[in-house]
Amino acid sequence: MTYVFPPPTPTAVPVDSGGLFPVRRIFCVGRNYAAHAREMGADPDREPPFFFMKPADAIVRDGDVIPFPQATTDLHHEVELVVALLHGGRDVAPERAAELIYGYAVGIDLTRRDLQAAAKAAGRPWDMAKGFDRSAPISTIARRIDGHALDRGAITLAVNGQMRQSADIADMIWPVADTIAHLSRLVELQPGDLIYTGTPEGVGPVKPGETLEAAIDGVGRLTVTIE
Ligand code: MN
Repeated sequence: MTYVFPPPTPTAVPVDSGGLFPVRRIFCVGRNYAAHAREMGADPDREPPFFFMKPADAIVRDGDVIPFPQATTDLHHEVELVVALLHGGRDVAPERAAELIYGYAVGIDLTRRDLQAAAKAAGRPWDMAKGFDRSAPISTIARRIDGHALDRGAITLAVNGQMRQSADIADMIWPVADTIAHLSRLVELQPGDLIYTGTPEGVGPVKPGETLEAAIDGVGRLTVTIE
């Protein structure tokens, strides 16, 4: 049997040591830094992490220009550490979680905040607030297979050169290993899965013509422009 139309090219992200990392799914953590949970009006006590998703083809690569998305007047930036998985698993113990990791990237969880606020108020899903076209900018993946989960490093985002978000991934409520372990109790993780691990405080609006520069110490840098 042949396909009735040509299947799309798989989404892939360049790796610093060469080659392309094929993306399977994009999982995202909601509220993983206490100060951000507070700025969004939530209680940051250590309740279990919760997850939402973006489609794999929402990926935008470093240096790309993103047309201002449709259906929003309040597009927000959220800089996040992204974990790239080389191995899958279900019910993974936190102390084994690092064995799944291929590497890390700098990501931005672009959010249509107005649609998210409406969804929250109505008790509806976040998909259209979070999983829209080109909503997942990501840097080159820094390959790091060393059996340890990254647990510290400055994370920043500037808009047109003005610092908006500045924190440390050590401030995560659920560190990388715990996040992987929790998610693996909900779905069987697969090679190629990406996990956007949540944003620190300082989220805010992005306007057409603005350039976002995000960085994480020891991971890399990411620049995208909104058109
Ligand atoms: Mn986020």
